[in-house]
Amino acid sequence: MTEKTQQIFGKENPSAKPLFGLLPEELRALVESMGLKKYRAVQIAEALYRQHVTTLDAISVLPQALREELAAAGYCVGLPEIIQTALSVDGTERYLIQLADSETVETVWMPEGDGGERGDGSEAAMEEEAADGLEGNTSEFEPRRDMRNTGALELAGYRRATLCISSQVGCAVNCQFCLTAKLGIRRNLTAGEIAGQVVAVMNRQGIRIGKDRINLVFMGMGEPFLNYDELMKSVHLLAGSIGIPESRMTVSTSGVLPSILRFAAEPVRPKLALSLNASNDAVREQIMPITKKWNIGQLLDALKTIPLGKREWITFEYVLLGGVNDQPRHARELLELLKGIRSKVNLIVWNPGPGIDFRQPNPEDVAVFQKMLIAGGMSAYMRRPRGRDIYAACGQLKRTVESDTPLVGIQA
Ligand code: SF4
Repeated sequence: MTEKTQQIFGKENPSAKPLFGLLPEELRALVESMGLKKYRAVQIAEALYRQHVTTLDAISVLPQALREELAAAGYCVGLPEIIQTALSVDGTERYLIQLADSETVETVWMPEGDGGERGDGSEAAMEEEAADGLEGNTSEFEPRRDMRNTGALELAGYRRATLCISSQVGCAVNCQFCLTAKLGIRRNLTAGEIAGQVVAVMNRQGIRIGKDRINLVFMGMGEPFLNYDELMKSVHLLAGSIGIPESRMTVSTSGVLPSILRFAAEPVRPKLALSLNASNDAVREQIMPITKKWNIGQLLDALKTIPLGKREWITFEYVLLGGVNDQPRHARELLELLKGIRSKVNLIVWNPGPGIDFRQPNPEDVAVFQKMLIAGGMSAYMRRPRGRDIYAACGQLKRTVESDTPLVGIQA
């Protein structure tokens, strides 16, 4: 490598323009604007989205002079970088991921998932449910004998993993039970920053498409439907270029009505979850102020316009808050509310966070609530809390650098 090249490559320049995040047609337009042949765009896409390179210099299929030319024109790979990891006793890992402008978001890796996909008709759900019936399968982490492959997950003793990714730096929605809400909104992520979290974690975990099964949930920091265009662009990158089918992705919204209506018309889309958390508007307004803008009735009407696939359901996430929404009358109301919608309910026991004034529900109330839903004909599952000890569980994501919460197992 020449001295000049070393100066150009070095550590990626934070003000350089990222190639990661460009769709194949955008890469094509770029190479053509530089007077290059179209196949160079295919080579760059292959390096970015299949080989997961982290620097221009690692795109070895391009001649050195061309890599230098790209760097001199102000381009970089621009993959977000994991700068800190917190390890949970249950195998969950929470990452602090740094973006080019030094903002950070959190991303959570959950080997075996958290049960959120159960009953949604997906392949992952089938595996999970089938595994429950395996004779002698005493460990929840024991791989299914007939699903073995040679990927990194199998080597670690897992069948699959779920990655929870962020869509915004902070969040504007202000759900009262959520630690992320305390940050307020800083900015939207770009499509490259959203998909880049996935590739950064795949690189760290040694995950290979075709060898390992991963599910994606857009349930980290931020409201994905307030960053709709970049979210959907990231879905196209992840499904079309990176190779994770949209059927293995779930996006969760707090209820942004115009985006739900747009989503219903998308030809390629992930599955949808509504973070409902209440059985009537009065309770929901109290814990999710966004309800004042779009009430439950409007949201359910919009959800009914989504053309569901054969084995597709709408998931309703329901965080149980002690004494607020966890009583038998709420279960009855919920059953009534969801009548006629092909749905399932994921129950989540609220995860405490500092400065948030709720209490966890009593285990007996949780059990009664779930039983009532099931008795009423509803598919109702408990989401396993993951990474509670490292504040990686649902509703607990808050940037570590600003967090006043204790962390264990931190690795730089
Ligand atoms: S629960 Fe989701 S939408 Fe609500 S404040 Fe937290 S991150 Fe935002």
